[in-house]
Amino acid sequence: MNDHRRLGRELDLFDTDPLMGAGLPYWLPDGAVVRHTLEEYVREAERGAGYRHVYSPVLGKRELYEISGHWDHYSEDMFPPMKLGGEEVLLRPSLCPHHALIYRSRSHSYRELPLRIAELGGMYRSELSGVLGGLTRVRSIQLNDAHIFCTLDQAVEEARAALALIRRAYADLGIRAAGYRLSLPGEGNKYVADPELWRRATALLEEVLEGIEYEAVEGEAAFYGPKIDVQIVDRAGRESTLSTVQIDFHQPERFDLHYIGPDGAKHRPVMVHRSIIGSVERAVAHLIEEHGGAFPAWLAPVQLVVLPVAEEQYGQAEKVVRRALDLGLRAEVAGPEHGTLGARVREARLVPYVAVVGAREADGELAAVRLRDGRKPGAVPVDELLHRVRSVVEDRDAELWAAA
Ligand SMILES: [Zn+2]
Repeated sequence: MNDHRRLGRELDLFDTDPLMGAGLPYWLPDGAVVRHTLEEYVREAERGAGYRHVYSPVLGKRELYEISGHWDHYSEDMFPPMKLGGEEVLLRPSLCPHHALIYRSRSHSYRELPLRIAELGGMYRSELSGVLGGLTRVRSIQLNDAHIFCTLDQAVEEARAALALIRRAYADLGIRAAGYRLSLPGEGNKYVADPELWRRATALLEEVLEGIEYEAVEGEAAFYGPKIDVQIVDRAGRESTLSTVQIDFHQPERFDLHYIGPDGAKHRPVMVHRSIIGSVERAVAHLIEEHGGAFPAWLAPVQLVVLPVAEEQYGQAEKVVRRALDLGLRAEVAGPEHGTLGARVREARLVPYVAVVGAREADGELAAVRLRDGRKPGAVPVDELLHRVRSVVEDRDAELWAAA
């Protein structure tokens, strides 16, 4: 079974410690590489789509969440406030309120819209310890979040563009969307009471979903509005939400946001909330299970392992690794001190490229190449090997060794 908790520990990706606490995993170096690479991928995709990145603090005053509505509608999922001098501060349950304040801190003309603010930032959820496990239910979450402040006329197009960004990321990451869900409010006082707001936002999301097959589900909306959820299914068949797109009339109202229109008057912007990969923790958990630890080459913690057959080829193997590192690749030497050649090849079974350097290869600046999928391109000039690996990584190619 590809349980990400088992694989995460076996592959030295992440772990937990009772002293750090349940639901608070830490990332080991190989896991940190995967996470960092994923975060950089997201930032690059966002930059290309016109987003600007910000940083904002993980704490906020209680009043902030009273304004946003979290305090009234979401407090069960929040950590209790901390008293600090005369005020109360909270670990934030979402990034939205901070981004609303960032928008509000400057005046905006309609010419600046849509204004797309993105952040990979921390947020916290007071999950009960009974449901915690691995990276899927955590108390400390790194969220890939963004808020698009736009005019009403731009909202549907912005939400559609966000869905397109999600689809492209899934293709690059090898993630399969199990389905699209239109999440609507259900019974109870979890949701803000404003029927007109719900009706308008739902109508716009239905427009976004035109031509896409989806299921409408009650009781899954955010407290402030309906959302489009992109669902994934894990290896055990459990469904969960990874990515979301929401159109929100509520927060702009609560924070009294505005922009100056062509008429010189103040107008209310619409806020589109969207997340491409959701939380980094859940995305990595899914990637671990989906690929059984054999990440696509561009995400792999180690992309190339060089194995000198004997001590005499150690220097040559180190030279190959040095050149790979200079090209921005992640490569290491596994010498005879790590066991027999057969044992070292088995140890590297999840590494996309293994290059064996014996006496014959060392003399000819060659390496005997083995791919993770079992193919053996044989003795290849080191130059050609490094060039191929680099181009597969740069193009985020799923094919490790295309026919020349
Ligand atoms: Zn938000």
